[in-house]
Amino acid sequence: MKMNKIAAILLLLLSFSLQAGQASINSLRLWSAPDHTRLVFDTSASVQHKIFSLTKPERLVIDFTNTRLNTSLAGFKGKDRYVRSIRSSTRNGGSLRIVLDLKGRIKPKIFALAPNREYGHRLVLDLFSTKNIARVPVKKEVVKQYKKYQPARDVVIAIDAGHGGEDPGAIGTYGTREKDVVLSIARKLEALVSREKGMRPVMIRTGDYYLGLRKRSAMARRKKADLFISIHADAFRNKRVQGSSVYTLSNRGASSEAARWLAERENSADLVGGVELKDKDDVLASVLLDLSQTGTRQASHDVAAKVLGRMRRIGKVHHTSVQKAGFAVLKSPDVPSILVETAFISNPTEEKRLRSHQHQNKLAKSILSGIRDYFHRNPPPGTLLAQRLDHKPAIQRKHVTNRGDTLAMIAKQYQVSVNGLRSANSLSNDVIRIGQVLQIP
Ligand SMILES: [Zn+2]
Repeated sequence: MKMNKIAAILLLLLSFSLQAGQASINSLRLWSAPDHTRLVFDTSASVQHKIFSLTKPERLVIDFTNTRLNTSLAGFKGKDRYVRSIRSSTRNGGSLRIVLDLKGRIKPKIFALAPNREYGHRLVLDLFSTKNIARVPVKKEVVKQYKKYQPARDVVIAIDAGHGGEDPGAIGTYGTREKDVVLSIARKLEALVSREKGMRPVMIRTGDYYLGLRKRSAMARRKKADLFISIHADAFRNKRVQGSSVYTLSNRGASSEAARWLAERENSADLVGGVELKDKDDVLASVLLDLSQTGTRQASHDVAAKVLGRMRRIGKVHHTSVQKAGFAVLKSPDVPSILVETAFISNPTEEKRLRSHQHQNKLAKSILSGIRDYFHRNPPPGTLLAQRLDHKPAIQRKHVTNRGDTLAMIAKQYQVSVNGLRSANSLSNDVIRIGQVLQIP
């Protein structure tokens, strides 16, 4: 009897101390993406877990050590393509078992994320179908047909009107404020892009309020923009200075940004160019980041050149080539970004023009034309524009670049010269991006 009592007290103490250090799952979020399902466990601390699959029927089991469930799992029934239902049970020693009843075989990927500004500790579970991988034979025709039925997306153009709210930007002789005219131009561009087939606008600033520069590019990244375009009007002491300019991020700006991303990657839930940097070692992370930045820089420059080319047709340009500067708003490592100085608001003639809706329309149209020039030549994979290229009669040959491709290898494969390849795709150097569509001359 006595021994039993002591044992009971010990057990009680043990479970008490366990409970004291226990983590909890406070909520569960689920997103069904077209190609995968993501479950996010919001936890009170970082949790230890074990994951394994069971078959007949297909289940995925996650055992959490010393963890308590603080939320209901009832709401997840039957809503997802892969997950039939989610249930839980408490196991001895305070561990928690979560069971996903699945609709078929899946491939899981699980990883932990450290807290960021918006969220605390998270455990992310991605479920991918094994079906497509297993069943589609590696015959080219079949793969092509399969591709055809993938839903194609629009090219997303993030449009950012500079300044706003307490920051009026530059002010002209007649009192015109930069923040007002650039918003007006941005709205006109938004309307044009929304009418453009295969493109969709995302407005970053939608009214007269200020947004931090980092926040602007972060918003564009969150919206999965294919291009970020910031619209401004220039100013200078000398009122005669005039003309438009187009900027991209300077190399110096890019490398200081790379250092920042690497330093902060432990705390960041962001994917860069679709890759997670957090779980990579320093060297690999910096290589991946550099690859992503190089592609982004090239794309930024190419779009900027097209936009500048179009703007030259409607008015004077201040700089005849694309300019580089360390603008913070252009610092996304994986979203091509450009900044357009539409005109000098400090020049009274240009100020007047900037106020005219007709001229604002002209500016918006020429920016759109530049964007169109670029994306019709370089449609991102998976977009409607890329599909249109796919469906063109086979007079034109094209090559979608894979990881590890070089211009020389592609030239050899199609028995064309590297120079021919370069000029057919107006490449100024040999840098190509993964997924870039190259015309084969
Ligand atoms: Zn400005």
